[in-house]
Amino acid sequence: MSTHSDSVCRQCRREAMKLFLKGERCFSDKCAYERRPYPPGQHGQGRIKFSDYGVQLREKQKIKRIYGLSEKQFRLFYHRAERHRGITGENLLLALERRLDNLVYRMGFASSRNQARQWVSHSHFSLNGHKANIPSMLLGVGDVVEAKESKRNNPHLVEALETSARRGVPTWLELDRDNWRGVVKALPSREELTMPMQEQLIVEFYSK
Ligand code: SF4
Repeated sequence: MSTHSDSVCRQCRREAMKLFLKGERCFSDKCAYERRPYPPGQHGQGRIKFSDYGVQLREKQKIKRIYGLSEKQFRLFYHRAERHRGITGENLLLALERRLDNLVYRMGFASSRNQARQWVSHSHFSLNGHKANIPSMLLGVGDVVEAKESKRNNPHLVEALETSARRGVPTWLELDRDNWRGVVKALPSREELTMPMQEQLIVEFYSK
């Protein structure tokens, strides 16, 4: 997992948008960004003008933070995306979406990607009936993620599954809540990723 010196909510304030890093808290009136929607620090409320490089850097930081990756992990994903056919920025986002930890979160088994990553590492889930404890594994169409039977009484997991209903499950995934089972029905298209992300800026950032 990535380590950040900023507290988690400061990251949202720094990126000037809600990144939804803290599960239920993000939907409550305790959300730090709702209370103080300006960058942290002494000059946070002043006007900040970014150079082109600054804009690209902020976009890269934002997307890296949404998916909770370290610089090294994120760069690795970027270079893989570059080697594939198609548009590099889109390849990058779609590969990030296919990570096991992201899918556990998207399916609603966890209330944040951070929590999903921790639970995957602690072997709370199986993939196609087999052990799967590597958060960065990339899934494909037809893959089945299931909470292990021994973990289904875990109150944190039960709560996450109940409360995630408000987020909904993307159309390219299917969730069988009763059986704690999620299936990747299709790969997402770029249009289905609804958070504001300008991936072209990341390409420009790494192309320098
Ligand atoms: Fe961001 Fe969530 Fe913290 Fe709000 S509560 S600032 S959305 S991490």
